[in-house]
Amino acid sequence: MTLALPPLREVIARHGLRASKALGQNFLLDGQLLDRIARVPGPLTDEVVYEVGPGPGGLTRALIRAGAEVTVVERDHRCLPALAELADAAPGRLHVHEGDALAFDAAAAIGRAPHIVANLPYNVGTALLVGWLTGEAWPPWWKSLTLMFQKEVAERIVAAPGTDAYGRLSVLAQWRGQAKLAMTVHRSAFTPPPKVMSAVVHIVPGEQPAGVRCATIEALTAAAFGQRRKMLRQSLRGVPGALDALTACGIDETRRAETVSVDGFVALAQTLERG
Ligand code: SAM
Repeated sequence: MTLALPPLREVIARHGLRASKALGQNFLLDGQLLDRIARVPGPLTDEVVYEVGPGPGGLTRALIRAGAEVTVVERDHRCLPALAELADAAPGRLHVHEGDALAFDAAAAIGRAPHIVANLPYNVGTALLVGWLTGEAWPPWWKSLTLMFQKEVAERIVAAPGTDAYGRLSVLAQWRGQAKLAMTVHRSAFTPPPKVMSAVVHIVPGEQPAGVRCATIEALTAAAFGQRRKMLRQSLRGVPGALDALTACGIDETRRAETVSVDGFVALAQTLERG
């Protein structure tokens, strides 16, 4: 879909959208880059997208250009007039909500399973990611996640065991789906540029392994990586039954959390739940 709209820089100037540090605002203005990000979830024609933190609407434009119907939630009320202009230019294709994404019930508001796309301040992005990956209901209410993070956080999400980056976020993301680093984005692509490089992570939900509750994976990973330099026999001491489960799974209790694979954590959880 072609959108007859003024350049984003003009929209930002006209609505006085000076980037707010407190809201973690670093805007993307390069249409080609935004189109590349909008291609990460796959073809979007007739798909529904939930975009968190649209700001002046650069990524939103790209998602609409790609054929999606987009629902957005934005905390900064200053962005609403710019988003209203975009909604007028794309009738029926953009639904705008003002509010905090951490408190917004997107599943209820959207009604159909969306692809979720966001370029958010990293602390909000991480909190939302953990919320989307946890909970006992699976498969989830969303089709895929395409999220911009600080590159270092993105690397933690997709990290393999045995690396420094491997931790709780890696296990939470990878036991529930396939997580990949889709692209890196240079800091100079943002206005204003952040201090560090960014990267887009793409996560597609997978099948839930049998006999595992998410709460058990969360308890195990929180304990194991809470003291990641310690041996498992020390770090898992507070999780009832975990030391016996290590033995039953053939995982040496002198190992450290970062050496245990995602399948290893799933096997531990299954063993714990069998009692
Ligand atoms: N998506 C735009 C882009 O790529 O240019 C803006 C990205 S900017 C990094 C982050 C956006 O998220 C800002 O517009 C900010 O106001 C918004 N935001 C920050 N915290 C939020 C929250 N808790 N809920 C909803 N939006 C939030």
